[in-house]
Amino acid sequence: MDLSTLIRKNILNLKPYSCARDEFKGEASIFIDANESPFNTSINRYPDPLQKELKEVIAKIKNIPSENIFLGNGSDEPIDLAYRVFCEPGIDNVIAIDPTYGMYKVCADINNIEYRNVTLSNEYHLISEKILEKVDNNTKIIWICSPNNPTGNLLDENEITKILNSFNGIVIIDEAYIDFAQQDSWITKLPNFKNLIVLQTLSKAWGCAAIRLGMAFASNEIINVLNKVKYPYNINILTQQQALIQLSKIEKTKENISYILQQREILSNELKHISIVEKVYKSDSNFLLLKVKNANATYNYLAQNGIIVRNRNNITLCDNCLRITIGLARENEKLIASLKTFAANC
Ligand SMILES: *Cc1c(COP(=O)(O)O)cnc(C)c1O
Repeated sequence: MDLSTLIRKNILNLKPYSCARDEFKGEASIFIDANESPFNTSINRYPDPLQKELKEVIAKIKNIPSENIFLGNGSDEPIDLAYRVFCEPGIDNVIAIDPTYGMYKVCADINNIEYRNVTLSNEYHLISEKILEKVDNNTKIIWICSPNNPTGNLLDENEITKILNSFNGIVIIDEAYIDFAQQDSWITKLPNFKNLIVLQTLSKAWGCAAIRLGMAFASNEIINVLNKVKYPYNINILTQQQALIQLSKIEKTKENISYILQQREILSNELKHISIVEKVYKSDSNFLLLKVKNANATYNYLAQNGIIVRNRNNITLCDNCLRITIGLARENEKLIASLKTFAANC
């Protein structure tokens, strides 16, 4: 696969902005090259544009070379960059599953890229043929979210592999919830697929939604082109420092993940015994999707009682579905109690 044929001409030819920190790298005693303030406030200097130290820590944890890592302002940044790098506005198109995470569509619309939907099976499985049928010469990206949001399930590895092998464009697998799944990350398969980008984030299992740090893993060629297009200092120093602190707490994070998995099991079982709950879908993530008798009424009742869930009614294949994030034990217990009261009065 020749990646340069997939990259937009203007991006391929782009001469990126060269910042002071790019032009001089190394040790020196006086830095008067970037028009920064000389007064030390600990934040008066521009941050490392390529986040070398942070990437080395992530590289160890993820067992992948630093050169295969891109860091963004949340996953939202690499999602948007993928369009800007690979898709010609008004001409190219992308394909995504339905239902899935909303940002792929929003970024397609912002960038004026045609967005083609392929509905999952009724049991939320991926059918690779249905995706591949929609591919034409202008299809540049296929979006796959696994575990998928809002359905919660991992998508079949063999179906994804078929897409990776047959499609001559970029396949992006969003693994925002992979830390809650009993399956290896697609990162391990990166050497086999030059067209694969894997997205992960510190927003979910690592508990850092507020600092906005998303990760993209891909071939060095793809990483380089993402770096060329991003804002020069896209990850601020406070985020870089806080990410280093959080990433050092591996044991605590693992503990938190097992807590969530344990609560997911408990909550799922409890929910199944409530009369208004018709189905609790299998989850490989930190949330549960459930079908109830009347999603709007249930949503409103919970909200009146101070419990906010995500109403997914009206989304493809999600009629009368609510999406519920796994909370602390006492929060989950309150949810159950509230649903039982509601059910008793229905
Ligand atoms: C939550 C979520 C993300 C995370 O986005 P950030 O911008 O990194 O916070 C990415 N993808 C999916 C599918 C999500 O549900």
